[in-house]
Amino acid sequence: MRHLPAVLIVEDEPAIAELISVNLRHSGFRPIWAMDSDTAQAELDGVLPDVILLDWMLPGESGLTLAKRWRAHPRTKTVPIIMITARGDEVDRVAGLDAGADDYIAKPFSTKELLARIRAVLRRRAPEHDAGLVTVGDLSLDAATYRVTFQESSLKLGPTEFKLLHYLMTHAERVHSRSQLLDKVWGDHVFIEERTVDVHVKRLREALREAGQMIETVRGVGYRLTAQAVRAGQV
Ligand code: CA
Repeated sequence: MRHLPAVLIVEDEPAIAELISVNLRHSGFRPIWAMDSDTAQAELDGVLPDVILLDWMLPGESGLTLAKRWRAHPRTKTVPIIMITARGDEVDRVAGLDAGADDYIAKPFSTKELLARIRAVLRRRAPEHDAGLVTVGDLSLDAATYRVTFQESSLKLGPTEFKLLHYLMTHAERVHSRSQLLDKVWGDHVFIEERTVDVHVKRLREALREAGQMIETVRGVGYRLTAQAVRAGQV
């Protein structure tokens, strides 16, 4: 039997959970519903799902608290989390990303959009499993040989810039806040200022030359690596 990707839906409203479940099932996923944090934790203690859809507003522990805890735990930290939120404003989006969510979707949402986002996190997750070649547009990075090339020409990067680029490329087309990048690229060095990220992004852009414009500044939120800028014919 084909492996159906399991999606853990953490949502206290049965009607919404049911709607999502039906759509997931029709699209070849295996939905599992947890109506509160205890049930969700019990599910995760059993078998890890492929993706977690996490409602922000839950009775008891909030989705934000759960996202932080699951990200901090070695067993659950690599499971992609999509936050479902009624809160669409920027501060909340940043809080969700900082808590470790891979993406977020604001209620009300179309199930089509939700499915697209689930597929996207599953795709994005894949490159991390093989340490080899990552490609975004004409930009390629080979983690095994430590080589970065753009349109066949080789680029020289410092170790931090290389690590930063590797992270951005394996999580392309999505926005990362500065503190999220600090967490993922610099790890536990909590005393590094967020401004440090800006410094390294600047160096990375310079090192990438024409490909530097693939790294976009998203005002008030952070940075995103995208193939779009290059496709627009600016290079
Ligand atoms: Ca809710």
